[in-house]
Amino acid sequence: MENKAVIAIDLGGTRIKLGLVRAGSVLLTDRMASQSGQGLQTRLPQIKATLDRMLETAGLSASDLVGMGVAVPGIVDPILKRVLSINDKYSDAPQLDLAGWARETWGIPLYLENDTRAALLGEWQYGSGQGYDNVVLMTLGTGVGTSAVIEGRLLRGKHFQAGILGGHFVQNTQGNRCNCGAVGCAEAEASTWSLGQRATAHKTYAQSLLCRYDTVDFEAVFRCAAQGDALATTLRDESIDVWATCAYNLVQAYDPEVLVLGGGVMASRDVIIPPIQHRLNQNTWATWGNVAVVPGLLTDSAALLGAAHLAYNREL
Ligand SMILES: [Zn+2]
Repeated sequence: MENKAVIAIDLGGTRIKLGLVRAGSVLLTDRMASQSGQGLQTRLPQIKATLDRMLETAGLSASDLVGMGVAVPGIVDPILKRVLSINDKYSDAPQLDLAGWARETWGIPLYLENDTRAALLGEWQYGSGQGYDNVVLMTLGTGVGTSAVIEGRLLRGKHFQAGILGGHFVQNTQGNRCNCGAVGCAEAEASTWSLGQRATAHKTYAQSLLCRYDTVDFEAVFRCAAQGDALATTLRDESIDVWATCAYNLVQAYDPEVLVLGGGVMASRDVIIPPIQHRLNQNTWATWGNVAVVPGLLTDSAALLGAAHLAYNREL
């Protein structure tokens, strides 16, 4: 078992990451454009071809594999191995029999998990969450992803949605319409998908450095804010305030020892972590001390390692 490997797949909205993992280390990775708007079925042949090439490079065959773990940006049923709900991306995924595909292609069992939950599993087992029994992850990027480990167990819930919908904690009842249909969710107030509209709709947009960018993302916002741009500074500070509020709500809900922050925005961790830590320190219910806010250690590979961990340990 120790020298057996697993296939890990992280189905991101813009990129699909593929990995061969053995004993908690990534042996090989590759990535491809997800073209997620066209569905997942059409991507399976290229995913298979790339994985077969990676196996050959690593000197492995199907008989060296014990399973496949797949991280999905949606709500999944890990028992029936079905995608239950997914937003815009890979819209055909609920109809696909991915377990059948893995079995017929390589003769291996498949393990399915929500992507943020898989990333938390990775950080908990191999990264910043090691040694803790109560860990919450918040990933900041295209959306706001969350997940929780409580008392040494990955929180899934009756309908597999516990912990993963923190991005849809309502923060502003007068706020922006979210892609989930609600109003004022954390990610409608501060995430990449809502950022461009928040910027361009602002009355000072034409005077801002941000109007020189084709796409207003957080990299642009943090860069322009550092240059003193007023709108960028407003968007940056409002976003950090939303994330700090979301972090506060997560701590109230799940009582962790540590909050791990991940996602592309963490390139600006020095600006983001201190105000979030400050907000958590104001929690008067934390009679035992303060939740530590730490960056994820695994950045790009957290979800791959978490998905692989499921397959390795033959867990749900
Ligand atoms: Zn929402």
